Amino acid sequence: MDYAAFFEQAVSDLKAERRYRVFADLERIAGRFPHAIRHTAQGPQPIVVWCSNDYLGMGQHPAVIEALASTARRMGAGAGGTRNISGNHHPVVQLEAELADLHGKDAALAFTSGYVSNLTGIATIAKLIPDCLILSDALNHNSMIEGVRNAGREKAIFRHNDLEHLEELLRRAGRDRPKLIVFESIYSMDGDIAPIGRICDLAERHQAMTYIDEVHAVGLYGPRGAGVAERDGEMARIDVIEGTLAKAYGCLGGYIAGSAAMVDAVRSHAPGFIFTTTLPPAVAAAACESVRILKASGDERARHQRQAARTKEALAAAGLPVMPTSTHIVPLMVRNAELCKAASDRLLDTHGIYIQPINYPTVPRGEERLRITPTPFHDESLIQALADALVEVWDHLGVPRDAAAPLAVAAE
Ligand SMILES: *Cc1c(COP(=O)(O)O)cnc(C)c1O
Repeated sequence: MDYAAFFEQAVSDLKAERRYRVFADLERIAGRFPHAIRHTAQGPQPIVVWCSNDYLGMGQHPAVIEALASTARRMGAGAGGTRNISGNHHPVVQLEAELADLHGKDAALAFTSGYVSNLTGIATIAKLIPDCLILSDALNHNSMIEGVRNAGREKAIFRHNDLEHLEELLRRAGRDRPKLIVFESIYSMDGDIAPIGRICDLAERHQAMTYIDEVHAVGLYGPRGAGVAERDGEMARIDVIEGTLAKAYGCLGGYIAGSAAMVDAVRSHAPGFIFTTTLPPAVAAAACESVRILKASGDERARHQRQAARTKEALAAAGLPVMPTSTHIVPLMVRNAELCKAASDRLLDTHGIYIQPINYPTVPRGEERLRITPTPFHDESLIQALADALVEVWDHLGVPRDAAAPLAVAAE
């Protein structure tokens, strides 16, 4: 039996479809974000990162680093086991209290990542509700799709942000059947926002529970950085809020927040919580510090929005196909997998600008793009350098400039 052949075949299939991914070998420099070093066969190359989800640069905030380092010195590197075996460490208890307060909920539960919190959170919640029908937005993140799958419950997919379709499915299920609506606040590829209040209206009318992924919004929206639901005044109407500590908060980990009964039941039943080691105390302490900072200060959020708007203006003024968004995410449409990869390679090799290409299956075929994420640290001169470099790459490769409008045929 030639086992190696299976794996070689799996990779060559991807290469044939132009879906094989190569990751840059990068070294971030604390204090100089978004500047970084790229390690290449020819030696180190200084680059500027334009595709980080460390949206506010909190991963290099001096107080966050200090919380991490001092907690590690005091409590060591690892958590020492699962909470079922080793108990809670104090920083994770503090973190969960901070997160519950952030979202105005009774309780929160921390997981080792946002991915795990969705996967095991959705699956466990739906399994605990007899005959639960899960209504899931068509563009939900893979971690939510896997959570729905793992629940083993009947599911119904509603067209992306389509309230009429959602209502039709809710009505069809009937008022008496338990229902869980799972959706995101900000969809991170198109940078669009869910109609949270109107989804809550439907949920209330049809007696459904709501579960929202605010991964791309926590830290970034709302007066205390609790997300879009906070900004829109809808947070109290959402039953379960899920977030990450790894993007705007700059660390690692995920969580759900909600009622005491729900959190206690998930804590007691979720395999992805019970059977895996807790976040290290240092990471929990750093994330907690980051949450606290962004609760108290809106400056980072204001600068983030300003630089994102400036970036969109500069790219549009240069005649580049920016997809209009109402969020901090700046999708630059290419609509061709090979050109998208080639554009990304040339930006990096020739201009020292790092923007990972976004190809299928992250987005549908024909919707390939460069996903640009400005931060408060991308200043005017970096924005101008980005626009100039993109114009050179677009001209050099002959990338179309009229690709910003959505395709006529919606991808499913
Ligand atoms: C990144 C992401 C996650 C997973 O969060 P991690 O903390 O990175 O595991 C969940 N949902 C969405 C929408 C994401 O983009």
